Amino acid sequence: MYIKFWGTRGSIATPGPDTVKFGGNTSCVEVVSTKGHRLIIDAGTGIRALGDELVQTGQPVHLTLLLTHTHWDHILGMAFFKPVYLESTVITIDGCPKAFWGLANVFDDRKGNGYFPVAFDELKAKIRHLERLPSGPLQLGDLTIDGIETHHPQGGMGFRLREPDRSLVFLTDNELTNEAPLGKQPEDYAAFAQGCDLLIHDAQYLPEEIASHRGWGHSTYVDAVELAILAGVPRLILFHHDPARNDREIQEIEARARKLAKTRKSTLKVAAAREGQVILL
Ligand SMILES: [Zn+2]
Ligand SMILES: [Zn+2]
Repeated sequence: MYIKFWGTRGSIATPGPDTVKFGGNTSCVEVVSTKGHRLIIDAGTGIRALGDELVQTGQPVHLTLLLTHTHWDHILGMAFFKPVYLESTVITIDGCPKAFWGLANVFDDRKGNGYFPVAFDELKAKIRHLERLPSGPLQLGDLTIDGIETHHPQGGMGFRLREPDRSLVFLTDNELTNEAPLGKQPEDYAAFAQGCDLLIHDAQYLPEEIASHRGWGHSTYVDAVELAILAGVPRLILFHHDPARNDREIQEIEARARKLAKTRKSTLKVAAAREGQVILL
């Protein structure tokens, strides 16, 4: 399984000299299965450069786009994803129940709403809406994708991508707390991630910041590390960096997370997601 981070930032894109190391583009991760099936998780601003690369290959683009939810930082790159303007492109959309609706709304609706000069139905690509995941697993060859509802305002979905001998769990915009009367508990997410090879999890806040951000739908690096340990995961990537955080501060979070894993006598490997980073699983 090939995994590449095209956007690691949460909330809003943050270009500039202070974010070059971990990246300023918002949520977008490319996954290519061992059998060659291409998936993109989220269409944040990071998807633009991925689209440019795909078009440059000259090959028709066929992919599955999994959307965690339709907050702007997860969909706004779609209008600048060049493959949607090519007839040879086939995109299958799945993920949270509002995925297709959210993406279409990035574009104009022909009622002159002024969001973008192109209407969604003018796109040349064949874009189909599967909506399989809200009711059960999605099977793509020998790749099985499961969804889980995230604890986030207005809802969302996390994913487990499983090949016969390896698996990845992606959970962003997910607030880990035992005080989620209607949502899932950390134990539910631990069961979902149990035994996966790599967990990518939201770690937007510091423990000292979380009290004033309760209910915002994000976690701390401490929550993410504890989840990874509970789920018996060997490797954790911290994702959805706060837009106010510079490279030095994210590096500090990474160091604190590693120290915590050590204190907990865990062999867990932790790193903060870096834009452009490739992981071969
Ligand atoms: Zn977000
Ligand atoms: Zn969100």
